[in-house]
Amino acid sequence: MDTKAFKRSLQHSENYHRRGFGHKEEVATQLHSEYQSGLIQEIRDNNYTLTLGDVTIRLAEAFGFCWGVERAVAMAYETRKHFPQERIWITNEIIHNPSVNQRLREMQVGFIPVEAGQKNFSVVESGEVVILPAFGASVQEMQVLNDKGCKIVDTTCPWVSKVWNTVEKHKKVDCTSIIHGKYKHEETIATSSFAGKYLIVLNLKEAEYVADYILNGGNREEFLTKFSKAYSPGFNPDTDLEKVGIANQTTMLKGETEQIGKLFERTMMKKYPPSELNQHFQSFNTICDATQERQDAMLQLVEEKLDFIVVIGGFNSSNTSHLQEIAEERKLPSYHIDSVERIFSEQSIEHCQLNGNIKISEKWLPEGKIIVGITSGASTPDKVVEDVINKIFELKKTPAVV
Ligand code: SF4
Repeated sequence: MDTKAFKRSLQHSENYHRRGFGHKEEVATQLHSEYQSGLIQEIRDNNYTLTLGDVTIRLAEAFGFCWGVERAVAMAYETRKHFPQERIWITNEIIHNPSVNQRLREMQVGFIPVEAGQKNFSVVESGEVVILPAFGASVQEMQVLNDKGCKIVDTTCPWVSKVWNTVEKHKKVDCTSIIHGKYKHEETIATSSFAGKYLIVLNLKEAEYVADYILNGGNREEFLTKFSKAYSPGFNPDTDLEKVGIANQTTMLKGETEQIGKLFERTMMKKYPPSELNQHFQSFNTICDATQERQDAMLQLVEEKLDFIVVIGGFNSSNTSHLQEIAEERKLPSYHIDSVERIFSEQSIEHCQLNGNIKISEKWLPEGKIIVGITSGASTPDKVVEDVINKIFELKKTPAVV
């Protein structure tokens, strides 16, 4: 399929909407009352610090809702207002936050069911409204919905679209896109659907394996088994790694994406004459500012003397788990939770580990004076952060602030 031509024709269709419906102000008031927090604003205004009794809270200087997420949620709310009677669907979670997705369910927005690992689009009738989430949807999904004559509300973050444009550019010059991301993540699935030849690498270690294969060759079968779910159909590492370009899932660790880019640049300079570099390597900056700012703020926060860090965000949120990764690298005790309900008592907390396993930790809250670092992922409303802070104050017998 000519994905670029399809996208262009979709964007000109009267069934396609990506600019909201003129209800911005009404929706802004609603969003403010549902997701914003007076307490968090107060802490921001007080140099990101609040001390009450034995507890000092240190907030990261950038955290929580990014503008891409705010925009997507606002568009979903506007869609409900604009189509009050119509059936509305969403192809996936609008963002990776359970409370926001629950709110959409309450507003009668249906989630396309997944059966045996496949989305069942047969539930959607012609003419119904379908929202595409902040991290986008694959071109095949867009095509199904377009063929059905659905009204498509596309909330895809412009930063994600920028990556799609990048892989389109790679395709145009017959270059394989090396995508730094998680092959199962919806954003990476969408990005790879716009790419021609692609290979998804999870981290620097996997990228080093590929770079070594480019320079020294290796066992083709082993390569294909190692990346079995992470390359385009018919991919051949012996012939498809002569020209590579870098793209990324926008929520990966920024430093790692940069390292991977540099690694492939060096690899191609070793393999081919430096004067031919542009024929073998392409790189565009596609790291999202919001991800970068939150990671930089976390790097700053972990330098402080903290007793532990609470990282708040959906368990399937990639940018949140990367924030926790930064805490773990510094060997700081950290708890990744998605809502205040995970804090059972001063003795026990349920949290997600980096490997995705859910664990209950005992005696997590130290006695006496404590300094607690707090951050949250780009899909987490401030209200959720406020609830967690108030819970810590309550458990430490400190009067809550409202
Ligand atoms: S984290 Fe970045 S790419 Fe993702 S929705 Fe937010 S602004 Fe967009």
